[in-house]
Amino acid sequence: MVEAVSSSTRNRGSSRSSSANTGHNDYGRKKCEALAGNSNLNGEDELQMAIGSDKNATKQSCKVAVIGAGAAGLVAARELQREGHEVVVYEEGEKVGGVWLYNSDVEDDPLGLDPNRCSVHSSMYASLRTNLPRELMGYLDYPFLPREGRDVRRFPRHEEVASYLQDFAEEFNLLLLVKFCTKVEYVGIYRGDGNTEADIVNDSSFKQQLLREGCEDLREDSANLETRWVVRTRERRQAVEKERDVLNFATGCEDQVTDVIFDAVVICNGHYSQPRVAWIPGLEKWPGKQMHSHNYRIAEPFRDKVVVVIGNGPSGIDISLELISVAKEVHFCAKKWDLSKDLFWPLHEGKLQCHLLVVELVTEDGTVHFQDGISCHVDVILHCTGYLYSFPFLDTHGIVTVENSAVGPLFEHVFPPLLAPSLSFVGLPFKVVPFPLFELQSKWIACILSKSSSLPSTKDMMADVQSFEVRLAEEGIPKHYTHNLDSCQFEYDNWLAAQCGSEPIESWRIKMYKVAQKIRKLYPDSYRDIWDDYDLLDEAQSYLLKLKTEKHWK
Ligand code: FAD
Repeated sequence: MVEAVSSSTRNRGSSRSSSANTGHNDYGRKKCEALAGNSNLNGEDELQMAIGSDKNATKQSCKVAVIGAGAAGLVAARELQREGHEVVVYEEGEKVGGVWLYNSDVEDDPLGLDPNRCSVHSSMYASLRTNLPRELMGYLDYPFLPREGRDVRRFPRHEEVASYLQDFAEEFNLLLLVKFCTKVEYVGIYRGDGNTEADIVNDSSFKQQLLREGCEDLREDSANLETRWVVRTRERRQAVEKERDVLNFATGCEDQVTDVIFDAVVICNGHYSQPRVAWIPGLEKWPGKQMHSHNYRIAEPFRDKVVVVIGNGPSGIDISLELISVAKEVHFCAKKWDLSKDLFWPLHEGKLQCHLLVVELVTEDGTVHFQDGISCHVDVILHCTGYLYSFPFLDTHGIVTVENSAVGPLFEHVFPPLLAPSLSFVGLPFKVVPFPLFELQSKWIACILSKSSSLPSTKDMMADVQSFEVRLAEEGIPKHYTHNLDSCQFEYDNWLAAQCGSEPIESWRIKMYKVAQKIRKLYPDSYRDIWDDYDLLDEAQSYLLKLKTEKHWK
């Protein structure tokens, strides 16, 4: 079934003005300069064209599919709706919240390598508490404040974040937009009138055509929406309906597969579900048990075991600390260490051993050899080595690819130049404060689709992406760090904000993030309960309470 939906253009009053061209932050200025270098125009006109809003443009309303109802998909839906777009959110699960919906089930392949395994979306372990303070973590205009009768701690447990996301969805009437139990199985390019399935583009020469158009700069106005998308979904019918169906198969209650045409697709499917595993020589014959942190839930199964934990990201640290109480020995190994090793780890000496550098070799008798020369017999290797980006449903004929954990080519981690603005991604950057970043990316997408802000030409966006890649290579930054924003995340946030005329990030957030990072490194086992940034906390709490009162949020 193909259900055709077209875009409508209507005037909804004066459009927002963008401060993108005022150069109020360095990131924006650098971008403008870079783009100016790639264009044939000069001076002010050039910057005006490169980035910014067309104040007199008529707003356009698009039919947009959002994939996923986690923190990214929910805020994308809200921003798109606020900007006047028609939104459908497809969510495979039964509730909003994504990765924050704890699931005690684990996958049947503990390493997550088998593409046909029965998959579980959430990677939360039972004891998980946030690694960011709640003042910082919440969306910019919907404070994550404690509520009576719930987990009121500054670093609450996962259930509290799931409840906050549910509150957010209810506050903004987003639940009505979500089609639950509906998995997106295919997203493909569509160029037709919506009447026939033959209009789905199956031709690999399509990429060449777009490249030609992009290079010749035929598509100077990147806000054209000539590329539309077919979204194929499978709606899972409830088990109870299926049972009834066995008794009365005349009702034909099967999974429903539907194709719908959209003007734009925003991908918010998360990137913490597809494990990345460390490769170690000899692993194929190693007799012990291996698993990825995606499938770790509680410590009890590790009682009296000798465990190797690989990776010192937040999960690796949390899980190692939790295992100390039950395991016989925990060998914690990572490529590099920060301050915490000298100050903290000696406290757990004996039960916990830290190895600089990684596992070098494993052997058939169960022995693990570390690069620092130490060897021991090990029962379990736990890979806390992060996740891979994965878009199994997306077919762009090779225009968008995932290579070395980098999704590209993407302008500002959001728009593939050749398919902008009809295809976009929310939430790819890592080492960031995620929710506010999702919110700003979503605002930007919504404004671009409505034409109240504009993108540079396809050619200029492609040149920008290429110069970014060259810069990474020259600075010796590995490709898999493409979406690592870390120290420049707030500049990026402010640049996004400027694109849609929003205020820059409040300065207390930036200061609080720096303090939180420092304390977390120094005191990994106690930072969630002991802190000393009282002045910042006071400032943040009065700001957020005032905001809540002004906006009348429940
Ligand atoms: P997700 O939450 O993963 O949501 C994606 C949604 O898309 C899911 O609901 C999924 O069911 C749906 N979906 C996927 N594919 C399809 C499909 N084909 N069809 C339909 N629906 C689909 N962040 C913090 O801010 N603070 C923290 O303390 C913190 N701790 C973390 C701890 C762990 C262990 C992990 C894994 C992450 C943590 N994060 C933390 C990061 C967290 O992932 C982000 O904060 C954020 O919740 C990610 O939201 P998302 O919407 O991008 O992805």
